Amino acid sequence: MAGSGEVQIINVSKHFGDLAAVDDVSLTIKDGSYCCLLGPSGCGKTTLLRMISGHETPTHGEITIGGDIINQKPPGTRGTAMMFQSYALFPHLQVVDNVAFSLQMKGVGEDERREKAMDVLDKVQMTHLAKRLPAQLSGGQQQRVALARALITNPKVLLLDEPLSALDEFLRLQMRAELKRLQADLGITFIHVTHTQPEALALADMIVVMDQGVISQAGSAEQIFNKPKNAYVADFMGGWNILKGRVVSVGDTISEVHGENGGRFLLGTTDLLVGARVAFTVRRDKVHLKPFDSAASGNQGNMIPGVVQTIEYQGSFVKITVIRSVGSGEEFVVQETDHEFFRTPVREGEKVLASWAPEDIHMLEAA
Ligand code: ATP
Repeated sequence: MAGSGEVQIINVSKHFGDLAAVDDVSLTIKDGSYCCLLGPSGCGKTTLLRMISGHETPTHGEITIGGDIINQKPPGTRGTAMMFQSYALFPHLQVVDNVAFSLQMKGVGEDERREKAMDVLDKVQMTHLAKRLPAQLSGGQQQRVALARALITNPKVLLLDEPLSALDEFLRLQMRAELKRLQADLGITFIHVTHTQPEALALADMIVVMDQGVISQAGSAEQIFNKPKNAYVADFMGGWNILKGRVVSVGDTISEVHGENGGRFLLGTTDLLVGARVAFTVRRDKVHLKPFDSAASGNQGNMIPGVVQTIEYQGSFVKITVIRSVGSGEEFVVQETDHEFFRTPVREGEKVLASWAPEDIHMLEAA
């Protein structure tokens, strides 16, 4: 707990009438870490952030920062600072005075507050524009000012609500790298709300994936991306084909599953019970397409017959969507690297078999 910017959320709920926007959430965010709250619109991530900042009060539960319960403390006294989606800069104040504003409110003298404002503007590389008005700045520059304004209060925890969503693609990537650098330099806790998966993957030490007010999975980017806990996380993070079925046999190294939508699957795991319903995934880049062969599709495991629907060239790989020709005819997506793909190209409308190795599956929690 070096800088005591550790945030603990203990059985916290927030109800709006009948709706549990946040439902009995518990989470520890380590001091000095970069945490991203990730999920689709309405999952409760902003409400959770606003309870940490003090702009909402929990209906139940406790929030601590550095071990102190902060539920009843007003926003300015928690050691947190919030950077809002709209930068909300005062249009009539120069950059330096925008940044110094909160110190002015605290009665800090002009020389001292300007000196502190210039220090923090230096951290976001904006000293050269200190005398400009907000209207004379680009979106990215306004954002740096908003960051500086949040940082001048010396927070232990910086809260960022969709900080990159108003920027165009180029600036967004630049500012993303900047946020990561700044967090590492400052060493304070950042809690960043986003609905964009690549943003969370690039920034976070810990990603918290939320679904309808609860945490679906919390872990490192690597864990969330490569070992999704359930179908919701796998689906939301993308890149996976999700399959469901019932275990029919468990052998020494391989188990066999009969698919809910047809198909016979061999799974490189034995930690299963015969008769159990299971869900598992195969990464798109672990699936390979073969020419259609009716005998193989019936007898061998891990062979999905289908028809190529679309072929999209994506630079480093080709994305091929296959419509299964069994069961409910759902999509199965394959990512081939150029090299392999162009050696045996397929065409739209062609019948194929999608196959993968038993060890390339990842088990999910059954629904
Ligand atoms: P978004 O990315 O769209 O902001 P979010 O994941 O941040 O979504 P929240 O803003 O936390 O979601 O909202 C969670 C749920 O709580 C939503 O269903 C929302 O409509 C509801 N909600 C949020 N604030 C209020 C409020 N003040 N009064 C009533 N309902 C609210």
